[in-house]
Amino acid sequence: MQNILILNAHIIDGSGNPAFEADVRIADGRITEIGKLEKKDAEGHIDAGGYSLAPGFIDMHSHADFSLPILATADSLLFQGVTTAVIGQCGLSPAPLVSETRGSVIAALSGFFGDTARSIPWEKWTSFSDYLGYLSAEGISINVIPFVGQGIIRASVMGFEEGRADSAQMTRMQREVSRALDQGAFGLSTGLIYPPGAFTSTDELIELTRVVGERNRFYFSHIRGEAETLLDAVAEAIRIGRETGASVQISHFKAAVMENWDKSQKALDLIRRAQLEGLDVSADLYPYTAGSTSMATLLPQWAHVGGPEKTISHLKDPDTRDRLKTDMQTTGFARGVEWDKVLITSSPLHTGYEGHNIAEMASETGRTGYDWLFDALLETHLDMHMAFFGMSEENRRNELKYPGMMIGTDGFGMAASGAMAKGVPHPRSYGTFPRVLARYVRQLKVLTLEDAVHRMTGLPAAKLRLHDRGLIKPGKAADLVLFDPDTIADTATYEKPHQYARGIWHVFVNGEAVIKETAHTGLRPGRVLEST
Ligand SMILES: [Zn+2]
Repeated sequence: MQNILILNAHIIDGSGNPAFEADVRIADGRITEIGKLEKKDAEGHIDAGGYSLAPGFIDMHSHADFSLPILATADSLLFQGVTTAVIGQCGLSPAPLVSETRGSVIAALSGFFGDTARSIPWEKWTSFSDYLGYLSAEGISINVIPFVGQGIIRASVMGFEEGRADSAQMTRMQREVSRALDQGAFGLSTGLIYPPGAFTSTDELIELTRVVGERNRFYFSHIRGEAETLLDAVAEAIRIGRETGASVQISHFKAAVMENWDKSQKALDLIRRAQLEGLDVSADLYPYTAGSTSMATLLPQWAHVGGPEKTISHLKDPDTRDRLKTDMQTTGFARGVEWDKVLITSSPLHTGYEGHNIAEMASETGRTGYDWLFDALLETHLDMHMAFFGMSEENRRNELKYPGMMIGTDGFGMAASGAMAKGVPHPRSYGTFPRVLARYVRQLKVLTLEDAVHRMTGLPAAKLRLHDRGLIKPGKAADLVLFDPDTIADTATYEKPHQYARGIWHVFVNGEAVIKETAHTGLRPGRVLEST
């Protein structure tokens, strides 16, 4: 462990309080002193030159659990200043795997996350603790806060079928959640638009989340609807918190599709009312007006019952295709979709589609958007991802300012060169945190720098009860980011996403320099954090 003195820093301590000028000493992985400090012998020092020093950023919503096994250095996250990522989100975690259903769960995850998931060394783990042990043994450059995914638990016990869990199945699922909590999970996540999470009733979620609430843990949710059913979906998440005692986080908050933009404020009001009621409910967002997920999510829920092979057989059948079209126009994720707003971000089996929108592809081939989509899903075995544009920029500003709103990338730890620099993924994996600081702090002045940093550090640390992180204070873990507030910016775009953010000079994780003078050192001092 290094002992380091950071001189002349503009300290934004994560509490939301005004910044101040000081020196900071780090020793043995912790912040030991703050003030006007003397250089001691045998100590490295950094002249911050007045740049801003903040606690490392906490990514409240990450899928890095699927990228860390193949890219332990998590480059695109560290170049944003992220030192801790909350993983296991949207109901999807790489563990536990249960022997009878292991193959089908891995196949589903690989279909969902595409190339990344297919490169994972799945054979290395079975239980939740095996997976965390694997990360620790290999070494990772960021800290992680693991969650277990409800979708994975349900798929393991009930497969990809609809319907209620019987009491034996419920007992098994509760036991799996309980075991994951024992083995290090902070809580349970759900993804209620994805199969099989989407097949779960509110009552079943409450019964399962009781296990989480009893231990005073967390329920993080990709809620059941982010468009026309947004308000019901927020109400459902709040109800689950109220009835189980779990602390609730509404993930990647948004009101999608223009006709629903007025629901954003109403949904925030619901959260506010729950907070006033004394419930622990908060949310996070990424600062973009496009979302991103697997292309197959556009299909109605019934098309996913029975798993991917069943979905493919629906797409082949002309009568079923007609039914798919009708249903997509009237309900669910695809309702109100405009094909020119759906950008194909990855399609490894047909890379020529990447970077084009569906309207372009359809008109080139003289087909309707629906027919092009169905044919392309068949041709690529459902392995296509998309970004879809449909949020209001004005709402984004309002949402960012909202009390309790935190920041999450909803992304992966990627690298701008090598095997992971493929496709044209949503720029959020590279740009989320710097974009908040550049666009919404420096340019638009939606937040003060202190407030923005608080939402990235002290606020999420308090939510997660990480008592020794999220603030620059003596005794806290030395997760730190030194950045230039005048030049920090995201450079990743929808057209060219594989570009690191700029303006981040040094990043320390547990006292070790992982970014040193804007370069990744390759060190892996990250840890699997423990719940308190
Ligand atoms: Zn999600």
